[in-house]
Amino acid sequence: MNDVTCKKLFNTEDGKQKRMVSILKIFRENKNVEEYVKNRYSDSTSIKESVYRILNNIEIRPQCRCGKVLEFDYPLNTFHKYCCSKCQNSDPEKIKKDKKTKLDKYGSENYNNFEKMKETCYERYGTTSFTKTNEFIEKTKKTNFEKYGVDW
Ligand SMILES: [Zn+2]
Repeated sequence: MNDVTCKKLFNTEDGKQKRMVSILKIFRENKNVEEYVKNRYSDSTSIKESVYRILNNIEIRPQCRCGKVLEFDYPLNTFHKYCCSKCQNSDPEKIKKDKKTKLDKYGSENYNNFEKMKETCYERYGTTSFTKTNEFIEKTKKTNFEKYGVDW
């Protein structure tokens, strides 16, 4: 047994990974294939992870940018990219990508939702602050009147 044979067995004709049920069927029919995959990596947490690693040539478990070993994402059948949201949000690659998205979408890489909120508020109420709108003032008056019997 070797990786090349595994790839032939686990991939469909168009090079995509077969469904896990089909792969498990192969294991049932070829015990030596199952043994090979099971013993292929000493640090693999499951046979599903091992299959993925063979097909994607991942010899060493990937690490987060902070150095922590990454977990395998079973529903997505791939490795997590980060160990936690903190690492994800501080990734310069991701920050760069977010800035680019903002630039493409809004024409400014420093765009943030707060600015958009002010804009929408201005369009709707003629002021950039919601607390200055008549709607808000009226509401507050009404609430105060109901609560305290005064309208201020
Ligand atoms: Zn991390």
